[in-house]
Amino acid sequence: MKYFYDIAILGLGPAGIQAGIHAGRRKFKVVILGKIKESALFYAHIENYFGFKEKIDGKDLLEAGLEQLKNIGVDILEEDVIKIEPKDKGYGLITEREKEIFAYSLILALGVKRKKKIFKDEDKYVGKGLSYCVDCDAWFYKGKKVIVIGDGSAAIHGAKFLTQFAEKVYFYFHKKELSQEEKQSLLQLGIEILEKKPIEIIGQEEIKGVKLEDEVILEVDGIFIEQGARGPLEILAPIGIELDLETFSYVKVDKNMKTNLEGVFACGDLTGPPFQVAKAVGEGCIAGLSASDYVSKLKEER
Ligand SMILES: Cc1cc2nc3c(=O)[nH]c(=O)nc-3n(C[C@H](O)[C@H](O)[C@H](O)COP(=O)(O)OP(=O)(O)OC[C@H]3O[C@@H](n4cnc5c(N)ncnc54)[C@H](O)[C@@H]3O)c2cc1C
Repeated sequence: MKYFYDIAILGLGPAGIQAGIHAGRRKFKVVILGKIKESALFYAHIENYFGFKEKIDGKDLLEAGLEQLKNIGVDILEEDVIKIEPKDKGYGLITEREKEIFAYSLILALGVKRKKKIFKDEDKYVGKGLSYCVDCDAWFYKGKKVIVIGDGSAAIHGAKFLTQFAEKVYFYFHKKELSQEEKQSLLQLGIEILEKKPIEIIGQEEIKGVKLEDEVILEVDGIFIEQGARGPLEILAPIGIELDLETFSYVKVDKNMKTNLEGVFACGDLTGPPFQVAKAVGEGCIAGLSASDYVSKLKEER
């Protein structure tokens, strides 16, 4: 399925929603992608946001924002983007349900990825067989056995991608249930879905395997941990986005929220601290207006 938009916003948190409100009210064709449940705000209670005297639930704020977007006519696709590709005068997006979207301008409001540990001693295996980035490290596992542990589209995409390299791919979905459709798509590629939870890494200097909760030891050469949505850096690195030079963790923007890439703007936690709703919506507003100006100019020039 192919969709065409003036502006595509990646991220359904306060930054993306505010960007959508401003761009949508300028009458552009706007789509927003992401999941409110994945927003850092979803489970938070906010006491320091302008205009609310009592504590407010983040979930309520997000749901109200979604209603605003619907009323303005912004299209909402509650799914993750797994790939961004530069195209002539715009960008192509591929979503987790394989929708293809083209937009002249992108607003990145992907938040930050918070790393939760699966194994308590996993830090000592990083670079010795444990990886958090399939796209970066899959190549090293040509003809080897690997396990992918994680949640969401990142884990599913990661396991599928690894079948192009590894001889055997095991898969454990950490917290959530796989849908029938997801299960089928993994099995079709020969991926073995585990029912028992991996509880311990086996190996000293390098990974030899994982112990499952029923004490069975599974021999693997590599462990990939992929949690939640595809993290910002995993999907942004291949398009050459510039990061801040101090931490290399956040997207670098100017005061108009413009990144180093033509027609691409960023806002919210993704551009660095302070991690606050007020900053996210402020930057979202600027990004929405800047992207609108960019698309207006592009259309005038045609
Ligand atoms: C426990 C907790 C308490 C907090 N308390 C406060 C507080 O009291 N006051 C305050 O101001 N702030 C607070 N914050 C911080 C605040 O929630 C964040 O600063 C704010 O949510 C950032 O907004 P954002 O839109 O940049 O990112 P987020 O809200 O994190 O949204 C990111 C969005 O990106 C989407 N996304 C990620 N990857 C993809 C992908 N590949 N494709 C499509 N979409 C994707 C996610 O689905 C999500 O919708 C708190 C945060 C936490 C975790």
